[in-house]
Amino acid sequence: MSDTDSHETETPSLRTPIVAVLGHVDHGKTSLLDKIRGSTVIEGEAGAITQHIGATAVPLDIVSKVAGKLVSPDDFDLPGLLFIDTPGHHSFTTLRSRGGALADIAILVVDVNDGFQPQTEEAINILAQSQTPFVVAANKIDTTPGWNPNPDSPIKATYDAQSDRARSMLDQNLYELIGELSDAGFSADLYWRVQNFQNNIGVVPVSAETGEGVPDLLTVLMGLAQRYMREDMEIDVTGPGAGTVLEVKEEKGFGTTLDVVLYDGTVGADETIVVGGKNAPIVTDVRALLKPRPLAEIRTEDRFEKVDSIGAAAGVKIAAPDLDDAMAGAPVRVVRDREIDDVIEEVEAELAEVEVSTAEEGIVVKADTLGSLEAMVSTLKEEEIPVMLAEVGDVAPRDIRFATTADEPKHRTILAFNVDTLAEAGDEAEQRDVRLFDSDVIYQLIEEYEEYVDEMERAQQKTVLDNITRPSRFQILQDHVFRQNNPAVVGVEVLSGTVKNNSFVAKFEGNEPKRVGTIKGIQEQGDDVDEARAGTRVSVAIDGPTVGRQIEEGDELWIDLPEKHAKILEQELSDDIPGDELEALRMYLDKQRKRDPFWGK
Ligand code: GDP
Repeated sequence: MSDTDSHETETPSLRTPIVAVLGHVDHGKTSLLDKIRGSTVIEGEAGAITQHIGATAVPLDIVSKVAGKLVSPDDFDLPGLLFIDTPGHHSFTTLRSRGGALADIAILVVDVNDGFQPQTEEAINILAQSQTPFVVAANKIDTTPGWNPNPDSPIKATYDAQSDRARSMLDQNLYELIGELSDAGFSADLYWRVQNFQNNIGVVPVSAETGEGVPDLLTVLMGLAQRYMREDMEIDVTGPGAGTVLEVKEEKGFGTTLDVVLYDGTVGADETIVVGGKNAPIVTDVRALLKPRPLAEIRTEDRFEKVDSIGAAAGVKIAAPDLDDAMAGAPVRVVRDREIDDVIEEVEAELAEVEVSTAEEGIVVKADTLGSLEAMVSTLKEEEIPVMLAEVGDVAPRDIRFATTADEPKHRTILAFNVDTLAEAGDEAEQRDVRLFDSDVIYQLIEEYEEYVDEMERAQQKTVLDNITRPSRFQILQDHVFRQNNPAVVGVEVLSGTVKNNSFVAKFEGNEPKRVGTIKGIQEQGDDVDEARAGTRVSVAIDGPTVGRQIEEGDELWIDLPEKHAKILEQELSDDIPGDELEALRMYLDKQRKRDPFWGK
């Protein structure tokens, strides 16, 4: 299966189908993978399952041992199943091959008591989109009230051994789950009732805790793969290897290494490979191919074992120079007897399929993998947040410098998903006033950013409002002239808006406002105040005019409003000022526009 004989000629052979596990948080993805690994270790002799880098291979004979009567090895020629160790849709979307999903088949784990949850729906959408066949593991059946566990038993036997009450409670949960699947557009049924797995989703009741139903799950996966995927598993087993980067990792003694899932062909320990990099494809020579050492042989220093060659499907660690810019999710190709340029083109073409479009102006986005970058950028697009730079990798000082080139202050921001911020970058962000948001939940990052922008805009409006002249209309009361001039002191009633100290006063002559002076003091019931709101009566000192000449008792006066301020108020802030002030603004604009229709526009 995985080890290849390089002397072999180009005989097509069958590779191991790759299995991914998806589902809502806490529904038991990790436990189920552990159980599969655990039960297959116990059932098989030591070394029967092989631990790969990032994946676990369960060979056919072990599957059939675990499955007991359910599986006869004679019915199969596929070599077994390769489980990706990291569950969840983050890794599923990261792991692509030739534009599609890397996994050939998936297990959607659903807590049978909890049913469909947000991430269940998200997972099912991703599976549908990528057209990945899947089975549903209806997990935690052992938590059914009154359940009597029969560890590692096939479901039928343990189900029959339960009380009527426990059975009917489980049935109830299972039917609800089947209903939810049908609401989501999938015709589903308990797996033993499904005839055609191409049109129907099989539901397998399991317990990751007790192992009940795990034999059934392995049987269904094996059967599905054998029946519907066999053709896709025919590969040229000796061809040049093709794979996907699972992770880029610093490894003591090896420098930067790649954890790769190989899904086609072979790779040798001295071959030239092309890997998708941040800026351009990386061409490099393999220095070492590494597999995990079997548990029994692990010495602390020596976690890995060097191998000469490895064949699909397998997880392998590749040590080679110049891998610093490699990206998780990127393609890896062995060059072998081909032109390097052709292989580079192939890698470029595959990278181009990942849609990460950017604009001239916008924020900076950093993510840990191509898949997550793509997801981030598409969510930001939905939210109409422009992106100026989108890259895989940790936040580095040059990202900060790039962010400072954004025109709008709210775009001088970096959203970092599941990556680290280099220490110098953090300092630089602070110095250069670049905002940095990091999280390992996409929607949380975007929500935080949106809140930040809202707050920023509110603060900006407040500063603008504080620095802008605000409209107000007031009237000199009859018999309230306390002083003719230098300054004139008169009693007024504020009709709308707010009269503020030190503002200019205007009086309309016809439709033309003439500035008559400046307010140099306001007194309300004998006390000095800075402003007077609509509805109040105050006395004001106006420097400039003389009562009886420029102003008269009964005159309607205005705060003199600069055209620019009137325009900002009308166009941008009319929702943010009080109604009476808006009324003053409208009246002021009306008068001005009778004279000049475009005033303040
Ligand atoms: P994940 O977030 O989907 O990977 O979920 P985990 O595998 O971490 O499981 C979440 C919790 O559910 C853990 O406390 C598990 O022990 C528990 N759990 C998972 N599967 C089962 C099951 O079949 N039965 C019971 N009783 N508990 C389970």
